[in-house]
Amino acid sequence: MTEQHRLPYIGRFAPSPTGPLHLGSLVAALGSYLQARSHQGRWRLRIEDVDPPREAPGAVRSILKTLEAYGFEWDGPVTYQSQRHALYEDALSRLRDRNCLYACHCSRKIIAETHPGDEPPRYPGTCRNKDLLHEQSTTPRSLRLRTEDTALSFNDLIEGLISHNIYQENGDFILFRRDGFYAYALAVSIDDMQQGITEVVRGNDLLDTTACQIYLIQQLGGTAPGYAHLPVVNNTEGKKLSKQSGAQPLPFTRPAKQLCHALSFLGHSPPPGLAEVTVAEFWQWARQNWQLKQVPTKPINISALPV
Ligand code: GLU
Repeated sequence: MTEQHRLPYIGRFAPSPTGPLHLGSLVAALGSYLQARSHQGRWRLRIEDVDPPREAPGAVRSILKTLEAYGFEWDGPVTYQSQRHALYEDALSRLRDRNCLYACHCSRKIIAETHPGDEPPRYPGTCRNKDLLHEQSTTPRSLRLRTEDTALSFNDLIEGLISHNIYQENGDFILFRRDGFYAYALAVSIDDMQQGITEVVRGNDLLDTTACQIYLIQQLGGTAPGYAHLPVVNNTEGKKLSKQSGAQPLPFTRPAKQLCHALSFLGHSPPPGLAEVTVAEFWQWARQNWQLKQVPTKPINISALPV
């Protein structure tokens, strides 16, 4: 597998403010940062506050403070999805004009009930030909993108060649939600495209969403970034570290120790003393020694990390 070298490199870290950063988030931040810096690239920070019901009070501040304490330096101002709605609206209206969008009344519950066993349930296209977009109605509705029944392939720098038929596997996917919020798939695609991101380095839990994002970017006439999906960190029960699975917030003490954990998790072998140094010294070592090809594909269990 050859690495793509698109210059100038622009990477990003895009946390959702659903809670404080934990070791799993640190792995994504570290991998994307080192990959950007090793390409003499820029690294942007984007707060993905597109889903207010899932936001935790104080999370944005805590994320920024933690990244600072861990020595991450982002380029340009922090961007917030909550301030970018005009861009999302513009994309929706372009898609609407080209008849790529349709309105849908189906709730998640109804789709799951009519398609038991599919996880996540594939949208069967119930409203595809109903022309609800032009109907005056107070019933909540989502907006879906019409997809084509063809395979889309991309080369993930860690996972290799991925081929995905969105129509068959997901069905027409949601860009605007029934509850009135923009969908993550829309916001992330528009932002990556509009911010000129050349490579997305993020957790493997998002691998399945990638084809939809590439497809959407292509529908809007953009060039999709390259992708590298890092293995996720699982807790001792094999569940992905997250706020819901009880992940501990990153401590403010001894950041180099946590950074060393994250780096060893990404297949590198920092020398034992590196856990005790300053963050500046940690970053110096990490930038000199980072190699994406050392990153493993398999998830790792948190108990496998040195204490
Ligand atoms: N906002 C997403 C999260 O915190 C990450 C999205 C991405 O990197 O594309 O899980």
